[in-house]
Order: sequence, then structure tokens, then C-alpha cells
Amino acid sequence: MRVGIGYDIHQMVEGRKLILGGLEIPHDKGSKGHSDGDALLHAITDALLGAAGLGDIGEYFPDNDPEWKDADSGVLLKEAFKHVKRRGWEVENIDCNIIAQAPKLKPYKSQMESRIASLLEIETRRVNVKAKTNEELDAVGRKEAIATQAVVLLKPAQ
Ligand code: MG
Repeated sequence: MRVGIGYDIHQMVEGRKLILGGLEIPHDKGSKGHSDGDALLHAITDALLGAAGLGDIGEYFPDNDPEWKDADSGVLLKEAFKHVKRRGWEVENIDCNIIAQAPKLKPYKSQMESRIASLLEIETRRVNVKAKTNEELDAVGRKEAIATQAVVLLKPAQ
């Protein structure tokens, strides 16, 4: 078994879509970023790569590479997962946190879990998404940013 950790934070700005966990979520602001700015999928990608000892997301998808401009982070995740699979691993489970003062994410958690599970070719029960606020503290609490954390456990592929 191998464990990996991931973290991400994106600034919330006007004129961008809010994409989290592969879903577009109605909100008055969206994530600033080179790709589609999906902070949850980025944290999961880093956790996957970390668990397999394969570095980090920036090494595979540099934020100055035009190929990844506005890229679907689901594609990035699947691409990183290919490297992980090639090393003989599959995902046992994933747990994540989304720290956002707004919008309320409870209605979207189970859809995110399904989306993440399908990207990583596992059952939905192996993915857990938690959402919390930052108790109005710091940039996240002022709704200027959304932060994410993920932990991935890998096991040898059957
Ligand atoms: Mg990111």
C-alpha cells in the first residue's frame, strides 16, 4: 500500500466558471487558473502522483504550457492516473476536503464522488468528499479563494 497527500488553492475571480470535482457549480465567481481551475481534481492528482512516488502535477502539466490552457482537469487527472496504473497500482480509497466559505457545496458532494470514481475506474463508495467553511477566517473565509486537500491510498492492482 502507498499513501499520498495533495493540496491546492485557487483564487476566486469574476468572469470564470467554478469547476470543482469535475462539476460546474453555479456561483458569482470562478477559479483563476491556467487550466479550468478545478482545485479538487488538482489536489487528487497530486495525491495520486505522490502516492506512486511520481512527483507533482506541475511537472506533468506546467502552467505556462499552452497545451493545458483552460484544460479539463479531468483529462489531467486521467493522464496522471495512466502513469500510476503503469506502475501497477490501483486506488483503494480517496478522502478529500473542500474548504469554501461559499457557495454551499453539500448538494454537489455525491455527484463529485461519482465523477471522481469514474475518472479513476473505481466504485463510488471508495471516494469521500467533505465540504467545510473556513469559519470566515483568512482569504478562504473572505470568499477570495477555495482550498482543497486530498489523501489517496493505492494498492497493487489485482
Ligand atoms: Mg490548481
